[in-house]
Amino acid sequence: MQPDSSHTPLSLIIRNDLAEDILYTATRNIGPTLRNRNSLRPDSFYSEAAIELRLNTEVARIDTKERQATTRDGEHFTYDRLLLATGAEPRRLPIPGANLPHVHTLRSLADCQVIIAAAKAAPRVLVIGASFIGLEVAASMRARGLEVHAVAPEKRLMERILGAQMGDFIRGLHEQHGVQFHLGDTVAAIESQRATLKSGQVLEAGLVVVGIGVRPRLALAEQAGLAIDRGVLVNENLETSISGIYAAGDIARWRFSRGGNGLIKGAWGRPGASRLEMIPYPVARYEP
Ligand SMILES: Cc1cc2nc3c(=O)[nH]c(=O)nc-3n(C[C@H](O)[C@H](O)[C@H](O)COP(=O)(O)OP(=O)(O)OC[C@H]3O[C@@H](n4cnc5c(N)ncnc54)[C@H](O)[C@@H]3O)c2cc1C
Repeated sequence: MQPDSSHTPLSLIIRNDLAEDILYTATRNIGPTLRNRNSLRPDSFYSEAAIELRLNTEVARIDTKERQATTRDGEHFTYDRLLLATGAEPRRLPIPGANLPHVHTLRSLADCQVIIAAAKAAPRVLVIGASFIGLEVAASMRARGLEVHAVAPEKRLMERILGAQMGDFIRGLHEQHGVQFHLGDTVAAIESQRATLKSGQVLEAGLVVVGIGVRPRLALAEQAGLAIDRGVLVNENLETSISGIYAAGDIARWRFSRGGNGLIKGAWGRPGASRLEMIPYPVARYEP
């Protein structure tokens, strides 16, 4: 919709020289290189590949019978095949104080810059959520010298994804660097300079970063009438319930034949979401 400099998805800059930790990198070195890096490819890439790139353009509806997408400005695009990759947005906490101005999420470069600015004035940060984003923020804030408290309901870090041993290793590593964990707990309410945990403990923090997962942006898919179950359901070729429409990235979900379903994750550096049946071979099958 608006992958411009003010709202560049961080994934666009998480790679190569900036791969280790965008916030960490940015907090130390938010120089012209990062600020000007708005896209994965130079403009010439698109023209050479005969791709017409339309930035600042939001698709508002899809007419699946006419095979036509209409932008918010009323412009129509007809298609033979359509790929939906509208991504996801950070989940917000349904607790008092969650919308206070010092409570942030991290998804875009703009978010990143706001957090960096806030960190300059706050000696202490509360990180809510202790998975990839939360831990990335915790490490970045420790690198900046802030006191960091991380709260999460699980008893063991990342156990579900990486197993107990790795979870303990990651916790130890962060603790060695000064992160203070409050696991098995959640935040019940946030005020301007403190947060109260469900356990009753009060943590002082003038900056709060929430990293509790993302919610797929499904408005277009719902309007188009695609089958949805916490994401746009796709088959092994990433085709949705409507022929000729495909979905990939954070909005796509694939039902495993043995039950359940999972996110189709197009991680950087490996094929996947970009290789669609729109192109002639199926993505690799993976079943847990
Ligand atoms: C700090 C951070 C670190 C991460 N690190 C990693 C990592 O190391 N490895 C990894 O694999 N993943 C990582 N991720 C996750 C990764 O960024 C996402 O999985 C990935 O961006 C998903 O890509 P996507 O194309 O599905 O969605 P997005 O990147 O969210 O892009 C969605 C695009 O669709 C556009 N859009 C939305 N609605 C409309 C509309 N109606 N009309 C037109 N356009 C629209 C948006 O403007 C945007 O350009 C990280 C995320 C963050 C925030």
